This record gives sequence, C-alpha cells and structure tokens, in this order.
Amino acid sequence: MKLRIYMILTKTKVEGPGARFCIWVQGCPIHCSGCGAKETWNFEAGELLEVDEIFSMIRNTRDIEGVTFLGGEPFEQASALYELAAMIKGIGLTVLTFTGYTYEYILKADKKEWNDLLSVTDLLIDGPFQEDKFDLSRPWVGSSNQNYRFLTDAYKHLENNLSSIPNKVEVRLHKNGTVFINGTGDFNNIKKRLKNLEEGE
Ligand code: SF4
Repeated sequence: MKLRIYMILTKTKVEGPGARFCIWVQGCPIHCSGCGAKETWNFEAGELLEVDEIFSMIRNTRDIEGVTFLGGEPFEQASALYELAAMIKGIGLTVLTFTGYTYEYILKADKKEWNDLLSVTDLLIDGPFQEDKFDLSRPWVGSSNQNYRFLTDAYKHLENNLSSIPNKVEVRLHKNGTVFINGTGDFNNIKKRLKNLEEGE
C-alpha cells in the first residue's frame, strides 16, 4: 500500500512528546481559514511512497520514541497509516495522530478504516485549526478548540501536565538557501517576517 506524502523528518523534537519521526501526509479537504500548511491541501501533489519503504526508514532511525502523523489530513489516508502504525507499534514505538476532524465526528462516522487508525493511535490531537481561537498556550496545537485524546496509557502521565510543556519551533537552513520551520508557533507571522528580511525591510 502507498502513502501520499508531503514531507518526512526523520527526527524532530517539536511535534509531540520526545524525539519523533514525523510524516506530513499530502491532501486535506478541511481547508481551515488561517491554515499554515496550505501546500499540503492538494491531493494530487506530493510523493507516493510504499508503506514498507517508510517503515524501513523508521526502523533505521535511532533514538526516537515514536512517530507523528500530521498533514494534510491523516484520516484521508487512514488505511495506509493503519498498516504503517501497526508495524510501528510492533517495534515498541508510540503513535501520535493529528486530525482536523473532531473525535466525535470520527466516532459518529464509524468507518472501519478510521476506527482502525484510532486503534493504533496512542495520542490523538483532534479538531480543526480555528484562527479566531488562536492560542499557543498548550503544546503542539495552535487553537484552543483542539483536544488531546489519550487513547492508550502511553502518554496518560502528560494529561495533567500539558501546560508545563513549552511550544518550540525548529529551523533548518538548507544548502540551497531555503529555510524549513516546524513545530508550533505563529507561522503566518514568521513567514511575513522572513519575507520582509528577504526584501531587506
Ligand atoms: S486540518 Fe490541518 S492541514 Fe487541513 S486545513 Fe486545517 S490546519 Fe490545514
């Protein structure tokens, strides 16, 4: 089975608890106003990779505690992510899945592939980004409507300690002069400031 991918980071410390392999899937139908990742919306863009190939990259990455799925919309590729997540859990790593759908919506839909993905997710962070509820006081999320669902015991210990975990961004400067920033922050503002710097303002 193949996954349509926007990007992979083999190790990051700002997309969930601890050091994580991170997969941004390509394609999102939700189109939140103020989304900082519009380049992930198009379902035709990105790159198709075999689940086995991605799993092999994960297995060969040292010192990670888990894998994060974000996007794009992970539940739009739930079957392939379920297959991958089952292998990830098999080698003792955790799975964090982000979704722009609400948990209630997913449960009500009662789709087999969505339930399957839930069954291999340790921590689900659900709900669309809402610009008018912009709030960076909690880790890994950008608006106050988003929720943390501790679906297994793996991260239960964080449930009452979330506010003590700071939000961070990582900045990668590439040889070709491009800059990649990930994590949780005011991305639209950061992009605007970088553009101003580029234009020498
Ligand atoms: S669900 Fe995520 S990727 Fe999709 S539009 Fe909303 S913020 Fe952007």
